[in-house]
Amino acid sequence: MNARSGWVQEFWRIVVLVLVAWAAGTVFNQVYLFLLLALLAYTFRNLFNLQRLAYWLGDPQASQIPIHFGLWGDIYSRIARVMSRHAQRDARMTKLVNEYASSTSALPDATVALEADGTIRWFNDAASRLLGLQAAKDIGQKLVNLFRHPELAAFIAKLDYSRTLELTAPGNKNRKLEVRLAPYGDGQYLLLAQDITDRLQQERVRKDFVANVSHELRTPLTVISGFIENLQDAENVSRESIARPLDLMGQQAARMRQIVEDLLLLARLESDSKSNTQTTVDMVGLVRLVADECQGLSPETPEIRTEIGSARRVLGDEKQLRSVVTNLVVNAVNHTPADGEVIVRWIDRGSETVLEVEDSGEGIASEHIPRLTERFYRVDAGRSRERGGTGLGLAIVKHVLNRHEATLEVESELDEGSRFLCHFPANRLSG
Ligand code: ADP
Repeated sequence: MNARSGWVQEFWRIVVLVLVAWAAGTVFNQVYLFLLLALLAYTFRNLFNLQRLAYWLGDPQASQIPIHFGLWGDIYSRIARVMSRHAQRDARMTKLVNEYASSTSALPDATVALEADGTIRWFNDAASRLLGLQAAKDIGQKLVNLFRHPELAAFIAKLDYSRTLELTAPGNKNRKLEVRLAPYGDGQYLLLAQDITDRLQQERVRKDFVANVSHELRTPLTVISGFIENLQDAENVSRESIARPLDLMGQQAARMRQIVEDLLLLARLESDSKSNTQTTVDMVGLVRLVADECQGLSPETPEIRTEIGSARRVLGDEKQLRSVVTNLVVNAVNHTPADGEVIVRWIDRGSETVLEVEDSGEGIASEHIPRLTERFYRVDAGRSRERGGTGLGLAIVKHVLNRHEATLEVESELDEGSRFLCHFPANRLSG
């Protein structure tokens, strides 16, 4: 039924009512009285219908639409249509929310939605499993009050979305979690916790493997090298016949020993996370010492110059920092012709101080630069071995720098030369 026909029906209803009242009033000679009675009847009917509408709106599902015709029928059917549209939209929204909630519940990582003040609003099944949260009891509680973990409390207080925190799972000291925060909504945030027990275990196995292999190899190598040296010095064997094989064996044994030493150093660097910050290392002295030592290595060594523009010392480990300078200078020397030049700088750049090793050698093609610090990565493996390289030097440099909160930057141009820059931050410098 459309609105127009409802109004037309109502109009004719009023006309008929007035005519009947008028006719009856004429018969009984009481026209006004009958018209008044008709008006009162019409008003009461509408009041009654209004009251029925109000009652029906209180719970529309419980009863059928009471009137199907006329203006009132029209009003009821319009309200019913609007309500059915709303119901369909609600059903769609509920379905969407349920799907979202069940997919988040299925995630293997714990997800806890927190209000700006750290109160728990919602969490998924993995959060119950990994963090031991219980729906009925813990929603509405402050997360930090439930865990009483000072590191987690400090981490949450900082609200630094770029950082992660490693912690032992509550109630299971063998399980390790990596926690991060992610903002959402209006000041609210999510706490996400991932079970990294297996990953840590694999990393430990890998580190142990390298350390163990190196230890296992070191002893036999020392023995072999010792025998070779003895044989080289021995007088009762013909020197000519065994000189060359002995030299080759000696070189190979020395090379293997160097690889083992480098692997062991890497394993040590990986196993302690922070270097000793108690000693201040005189970088000026170190740079000059390494430059002098490398200059004297062979007559083909290109000229090594030093440029000192800082007196700052580095808080850290002298042996490790020395290996950084040595690795970079030896690399520069190895990749620069005898008539080239190597410059080692220690200079202030604002609050940081930079160790720079620049050479005028062969340079490195840009596609290799991002991979140089990977273990055993070499641009030309054959030439690296010929020059006694292990392919581990820059991996060691990167690890040592990490432990000193410093970063490595490499700039290079093929056939022009390379520049290795180690940026030491202000908090690691003194003087
Ligand atoms: P290696 O023992 O082979 O020198 P590194 O880890 O020290 O191992 O260096 C990795 C590779 O980076 C080297 O094999 C070499 O190809 C390249 N490289 C390092 N320093 C330089 C440099 N100054 N000039 C050109 N290439 C370099």
